[in-house]
Amino acid sequence: MHQLQMVDLKRQYHKIKNEVDKAIEHVLESSAFIGGPDVHQFGKELAEYLGVKHVIPCANGTDALQIALMALGLKPGDEVITPSYTYIATVEVVALLGLTPIFVEVDANTFTINIESVKQAITPKTKAIIPVHIFGQCVNMEPLLALAKEHNIAVIEDNAQAIGSTYTFSNGTTAKTGSMGTIGTTSFFPSKNLGAFGDGGAMFTNEDALAEKLKMVANHGQKVKYYHEMVGCNSRLDTVQAAILRIKLRHLDEYCYARRKAADFYDKALKNHPKITTPYRAPYSYHVFHQYTLQLTDFDRNKLHEALAARKIPSMIYYPVACHNQNMLKNYHPAEYNFPVTDMLLDKVISLPMHTELTEEELTYITQNVLEILG
Ligand SMILES: *Cc1c(COP(=O)(O)O)cnc(C)c1O
Repeated sequence: MHQLQMVDLKRQYHKIKNEVDKAIEHVLESSAFIGGPDVHQFGKELAEYLGVKHVIPCANGTDALQIALMALGLKPGDEVITPSYTYIATVEVVALLGLTPIFVEVDANTFTINIESVKQAITPKTKAIIPVHIFGQCVNMEPLLALAKEHNIAVIEDNAQAIGSTYTFSNGTTAKTGSMGTIGTTSFFPSKNLGAFGDGGAMFTNEDALAEKLKMVANHGQKVKYYHEMVGCNSRLDTVQAAILRIKLRHLDEYCYARRKAADFYDKALKNHPKITTPYRAPYSYHVFHQYTLQLTDFDRNKLHEALAARKIPSMIYYPVACHNQNMLKNYHPAEYNFPVTDMLLDKVISLPMHTELTEEELTYITQNVLEILG
């Protein structure tokens, strides 16, 4: 058996090595390293896949969030609602731009933003909400979109962990994650569900004017070269990454399916154990399992983490600290927040290896050891 990894990128690469190597060589030969035809083509292909009008590639998922906030023209003092249970990038960019992050609670079963908590957090200063499709589970978008519309608030979907997931509305229509908000953002960090071989990111929108603005912000605030309308930044997806992503996009559905298959195996083996709660699959969400995250009761998850490590099985704690309690954000009144669900999750969660290449043999080894350790 291979040395187990949280994410096995090498085995995935070897399955598409011929195609990828050829595409990289093609970019090298063309020497169009920045903004080459592959960047444009990838944007078009991803837009088609997601069912959105515009995809604007950029340098990484953190930039995508920052550029989205800048393109919306938010001003210092404007409030942006985000879950506290997320990767720090979601919140960091809000603070970086001088905006005020307002934290909200999540739901215990989905780990995603709690609608009631959002409702209570809305003030006249609220300008945006950033729902995060965390671990591959889609946020319940229908009530969130209705709430945002009622208060005229922009919605930025942080889709870094759930590209390929689908949301089903109550009338039966479906939409890809990232395509429902004012702007959607994603990351192509190598370990994400659609990962490049380096950094990358993108923004999505259906609004023409907003697409122009996003492009402009990402390109030094210019529409016409050397004529700078506003302060922007420099954030580009490079051509080699775009060429690789074009190939991997063709495999994305199959990658999502492979992750779901691994999750099915885990579920079956672990769901009846009294100390384990396996991941909930919300009926409106096609879960794409960026992570496979257990909640443990009556067992210290740190002990499980250590015991698994001793058996050469990696596991991870996503996340050990809530964003509002990070030192970085200590000026944003952490003491005013009381999030029992977030606190409970931070204490109980542990993520097992999850990627597209897990074999039955590996899954059997992992689950048998988890069960043995928990007793
Ligand atoms: C990975 C991630 C990001 C940031 O993406 P980078 O490409 O690493 O900048 C943002 N939000 C969430 C939820 C993420 O998981």
